[in-house]
Amino acid sequence: LWEKTLNYLEEDLPMFQFNVWIKELKPVHEENGAYFFEVSSPMHKNLMEEKYAEKIRLTMQLAYEELYGVPGADIRPEFITPQDSSKLNISRKKEEPQPAREVKTNLNPNYTFDTFVVGEANKFANAAALAVAQAPGRAYNPLFLYGGVGLGKTHLMHAVGNHILQENPEAEIVYVTSETFMNELIRMIQLTNNRANIDLREQFRRKYRNIDVLLIDDIQFIAGKDVAQDEFFHTFNALRDMNKQIVISSDRPPKEMEKLEERMRCRFEWGLIADIKMPDYETRVAILLKKVQALRSVNPSALPIRDDTLHYIAQQKNSNIRTLEGALQKVIMYAELHKDSLPSGEIDASVAQRALEDFFASPSVRAITPKGVIDVVCEYFDIREEDIRGQKRNREYVFPRQISMFVLRDLTDNSYSKIAEFFGRDHSTIMHAEEKIKKQMKEDPELKKVVEDIEAKIKG
Ligand code: ADP
Ligand code: MG
Repeated sequence: LWEKTLNYLEEDLPMFQFNVWIKELKPVHEENGAYFFEVSSPMHKNLMEEKYAEKIRLTMQLAYEELYGVPGADIRPEFITPQDSSKLNISRKKEEPQPAREVKTNLNPNYTFDTFVVGEANKFANAAALAVAQAPGRAYNPLFLYGGVGLGKTHLMHAVGNHILQENPEAEIVYVTSETFMNELIRMIQLTNNRANIDLREQFRRKYRNIDVLLIDDIQFIAGKDVAQDEFFHTFNALRDMNKQIVISSDRPPKEMEKLEERMRCRFEWGLIADIKMPDYETRVAILLKKVQALRSVNPSALPIRDDTLHYIAQQKNSNIRTLEGALQKVIMYAELHKDSLPSGEIDASVAQRALEDFFASPSVRAITPKGVIDVVCEYFDIREEDIRGQKRNREYVFPRQISMFVLRDLTDNSYSKIAEFFGRDHSTIMHAEEKIKKQMKEDPELKKVVEDIEAKIKG
């Protein structure tokens, strides 16, 4: 119910309000239609009640009715502070068996060094992370990890946290994305703006400055956001002055973060900078195998998966580890659904091929159709579809027609004969058009610009 409500609220509220006030709410308890949400302070509670409770109540009731088909008239949110919640004697979820910590670590127990497969592309980053985990605050500080999406940065950061926690269960560790850090900061500032509430500010600062390890993910997000950057700067200094470990990740190295303040860049370069690249083919297969083993240990009765399946998935171009994992999951789901028609009772490459028919095609290529191209070209030249697809030889039609043909060849993987069929011509006409536009574009920058404009429009 809450998930559905969140989806609606996300559509309804300005993004900023949603991110700051709503996104991180989680019901901690439910009783006779009352959903309890824990908020940080009495002031936070007041604000939620004044500004958002009614909206949330109505949206929850709507979601309830859609889910269960009956009105949920007594469904309502209740906001409680940590003190209230101890009074309520709420039984917390069993997943947090550790003694009450002052702050949540947010660590994912599945992301460990054991489950991280090391290959050429990530061995430096892995070694650096391990060194930091074994001697926090004493090896490299900060450790700055960078690389493209889905290549294992977040995994490694959690691995550092989990390792330290295992060696020293008392260690105060916080994993946070820079986005969450910023949203918490904004919330704190807004709450303290109206009425002077020093406590709250103290609480925020304590949370981030009195810890042993700060793992801050996707830092690129706060580059250019002045207030957040400033707060982080002070947090960083406070921690590093006390030799507390900081691990930072980003999608690019500090020197390529244009909007990053110079003083931050310089601090990021104090420690060690390690990049993670796309693992090679063998490593990708090994990673997939590891994921399969993990799945099997949870669900031993899952269908067996033959190695050629993993090879098939690992060889896909234009993908990162996250998409490969997604592909693996899709193959498994597909196989479960078509269990009865699997020839060998196992998942093999042919099953994977069927399951992934359009999984890896780049979305832009997939979405572009001849009709879509013609529509854009017609609008651009202010002519009608019949004129482009018809037989008239006037220059004002021939030229856009040839451009359409060129663009279709350029942006889609349609064959000459497929395009020829669409235009009712033979395939040499298409080849001729493609050649001609290509040649003219080299000579005429203006034409080049026209084609680029059209292609940009088509890609949306
Ligand atoms: P990033 O933070 O760089 O975008 P993640 O750490 O979220 O990427 O990794 C995406 C997925 O790929 C995760 O499920 C992670 O476990 C997996 N993954 C990436 N690299 C490896 C690796 N070397 N070994 C095992 N799993 C990996
Ligand atoms: Mg990540």
